Amino acid sequence: MSYLTQKTIQQPVSFKGVALHSGKIVNICIKPAIPNHGVVFKRIDLDKNNLVYPNFMNVTNTSLNTTIENEFGVKVSTIEHLMGALFGLGIDNALIEINNDEVPILDGSAKEFIKKILCSGYDVSDKPIKIVKIKKKVEYSDGERFITIEPSTLSLNIDFELKYNNQIIGNQRNKVKVYEDELSDVYNSRTFCLYEDIELIKKNGLAKGGSLENAIVVKDNEILNDNGLRNDKEFVNHKILDCIGDLYTSGFRIIANVKCSQGGHYLTNQLLRKTFRDEKNYSILEIKERNLPHTLINKTLLKSIA
Ligand SMILES: [Zn+2]
Repeated sequence: MSYLTQKTIQQPVSFKGVALHSGKIVNICIKPAIPNHGVVFKRIDLDKNNLVYPNFMNVTNTSLNTTIENEFGVKVSTIEHLMGALFGLGIDNALIEINNDEVPILDGSAKEFIKKILCSGYDVSDKPIKIVKIKKKVEYSDGERFITIEPSTLSLNIDFELKYNNQIIGNQRNKVKVYEDELSDVYNSRTFCLYEDIELIKKNGLAKGGSLENAIVVKDNEILNDNGLRNDKEFVNHKILDCIGDLYTSGFRIIANVKCSQGGHYLTNQLLRKTFRDEKNYSILEIKERNLPHTLINKTLLKSIA
């Protein structure tokens, strides 16, 4: 398989499950799409104005999820884990049909998405992929929290740190090379929250579908989920998964060094807006095999992460 030509999935892949925030049961079906189609969501519960593009400019809500919205007010929320899976697997083109306004949360990670998409297999075109290469450092900060993106030769490296007063979460930091490292821990890591925040989150109309089946809940120095954590750095690893998914709202895979402290959907979105506002910050390259001895897809993911 050529890693540097555009790919879609071979067979439609369906998922059904509860949506984390709305609590509704939602069906999605990821379908193959032609080269240069990109990843597009289609709200099949609506008969018009129902296409929503997962582009950073269309992100209208970053509160505990990433929500995209088209010019007609049609939304799809909690896209980030599915987008992370598509990025990791190198899926350039797909039509994602969805019968409601939020992607199912499944187990709270990207594990199920990756497993099923891999079962479908790839359909590889002969059209070259495009990538974003960052040319200048761009920074976005909000008090102590910050995110930066700067040039890298060939890799996408993410260095992320969390700082929580809670002693179980504490200060976690991880650095990954997105195209080269063994990343099953990142893609398997679940979303999380503090037990004491649940009441406020629910008061804000969020997490109606949240449960120990799809989120880690930490109460003081205890993890309430029966089997504890899936890996030692599951909290920061989940933030890296979110970051990968949110970076894919650039439309392409990225070559850059990203560093983030205590960030999340909002900071990543603001960083992309700032970066793409000035053409001096980036270039979009069409990659041909002969000038890049690099896969841009994480090969370890292709060997299933179950
Ligand atoms: Zn997440």
